[in-house]
Amino acid sequence: MTEKSKALFSRAACLMPGGVNSPVRAFKAVGGNPLFIDRADGCKIYDADGNAYIDYVSSWGPMILGHNNAAVREAVLGAASKGLSFGAPTEAEVKLAEKIVSLSPCAEMVRMVNSGTEAVMSALRLARAYTGRSKIIKFEGCYHGHADSMLVKAGSGALTAGVPDSLGVSNSVAVETLTASYNDLASAEALLKSCDVACVIVEPVAANMGVVLPREGFLSGLRALCDAYGALLIIDEVITGFRLGSGGAQEYYGVKADLATYGKIIGGGMPVGAYGGRKEIMELVAPSGPVYQAGTLSGNPVAMAAGLAQLNALENQDVYSHIGRMGAKLAAGLAAIAKRQGLKACVNQVGSLACLFMGIESADDYESVKKADTGLYARYFREMLAAGVYLAPSQFEAMFVSYSHSEADIDETLNKAEQALKRAA
Ligand SMILES: *Cc1c(COP(=O)(O)O)cnc(C)c1O
Repeated sequence: MTEKSKALFSRAACLMPGGVNSPVRAFKAVGGNPLFIDRADGCKIYDADGNAYIDYVSSWGPMILGHNNAAVREAVLGAASKGLSFGAPTEAEVKLAEKIVSLSPCAEMVRMVNSGTEAVMSALRLARAYTGRSKIIKFEGCYHGHADSMLVKAGSGALTAGVPDSLGVSNSVAVETLTASYNDLASAEALLKSCDVACVIVEPVAANMGVVLPREGFLSGLRALCDAYGALLIIDEVITGFRLGSGGAQEYYGVKADLATYGKIIGGGMPVGAYGGRKEIMELVAPSGPVYQAGTLSGNPVAMAAGLAQLNALENQDVYSHIGRMGAKLAAGLAAIAKRQGLKACVNQVGSLACLFMGIESADDYESVKKADTGLYARYFREMLAAGVYLAPSQFEAMFVSYSHSEADIDETLNKAEQALKRAA
């Protein structure tokens, strides 16, 4: 029964484009109406009709401890009781900045913003200012938020300038973005050779085209290429930061960025982003330097309190070993089910990020991922939803395992997946 969700969606559809405030929420890729969520606790979310689901969306990443974590909630309530925003410095932002600087492999200084998009947009501006160059390189299939320059993918030839992915992005912006193939160092080097490039931006684990892992040597190769060609390396840790470990993907893969962008986990569920890097680069940001970047609600005290409480809870390293074990168990279980059922599929996983790709045997880049069987995924998604498991409503998103997912939750999920895949196939 999802009557209330249906009624809410029909009201929403008249009021907001597609009935939602962010596109993938609308279930367009899988069919049906989106669920409207009333509350969430631990690894479960509850829709407006009171149905419970084991959640693998985790608000798209922030809820690494699980929903409604007591420490985060108490910190938010405490901060809120003192006033919601002052537009002036607070102790909370100093504490969160200290925490990020102490744990991030590359950030000697940070600037807080309100979203991952804003962090990326600002880091790109800073990289251009620092290098005095304008071109940027991104990788096909990597998502870095919705700033104009990031809504671009390459045309057919590797050296052709970008074409916008979205209407409304002007060609003059798009031509500054060059697109290389993920896991393909040669494609990046060809672009670096062709012109002066300000920066290379990469998702260290590509977690917005399903989950695609960096090949051995890819990230360190990018580091070397950036050094050789005088470009900055921006590692977008909006998903991986504080998820693959306290030092994020940079620590996990042993590669240091010039600038890193953060979001999702560092806000504990509140809207927060941050970018940071070497002091010499960060000091170009206003008011210490000439690169303008500002925000009315940046460093908001309630958001800082949420982020700080969550990062403090993550100091307990048991979190990372638990979510890593649960992620591996989930991935191995899904792969075994696919095999038993003779289903062509593959599972990519690192730590608490996993993705079951339907209809393909490997997923290493955008080209391979594009061939996934999205129709089968949509049927599987609907079967899982009906069975009480809330997956991302798209083949090209990660499953996020949280500290609240127990062994029993993973077992229950796998049992349901076994049935769902049989019916979907
Ligand atoms: C989610 C995401 C962003 C954008 O963050 P928003 O807070 O949605 O603006 C940027 N980069 C990566 C890697 C992301 O996953």
